[in-house]
Amino acid sequence: MDQVDDVDDNWLNGEDITCPECHERLYRLDHSPLLDCYFLYCDSCPMRVDISYYDSTCTTIADALPSRDDAYSTLMAALEARLRPCDCGGRFRDSAPRRCHLCSAVLTAISAPSGVDVWPGWWTAETDTGSLEETFTARYFRSENLWEH
Ligand SMILES: [Zn+2]
Ligand SMILES: [Zn+2]
Repeated sequence: MDQVDDVDDNWLNGEDITCPECHERLYRLDHSPLLDCYFLYCDSCPMRVDISYYDSTCTTIADALPSRDDAYSTLMAALEARLRPCDCGGRFRDSAPRRCHLCSAVLTAISAPSGVDVWPGWWTAETDTGSLEETFTARYFRSENLWEH
């Protein structure tokens, strides 16, 4: 590894954070462009939706935007308007405050939430957490039946 690679090791600004309420260990990370999906977060609870770039509704919405306006925030607003509300009654938004998945406390350390994801602290551990990840994914990520009909 040369020096440039060392500098780039943390290119997504990963950082351990601690929930201000329950002290759960969490990890903030800029949303990776390699993930091929958008995450939008409920504005009232820790749920999020996982919208694939290739989701047919997502591409239809993106294609319908005025071509002169390709701003990320414009696309997010268009997606937000079409998403089915969260089971808790909240709405999924790109800029919703990020929350602790355990106690739902707002993570004030993340002052500009757009484009930032929050993961459990154990997610990045070297140990095998595959089954934990499956349980977590099933509980906190919505990846199907995303849209209002
Ligand atoms: Zn908490
Ligand atoms: Zn919710």
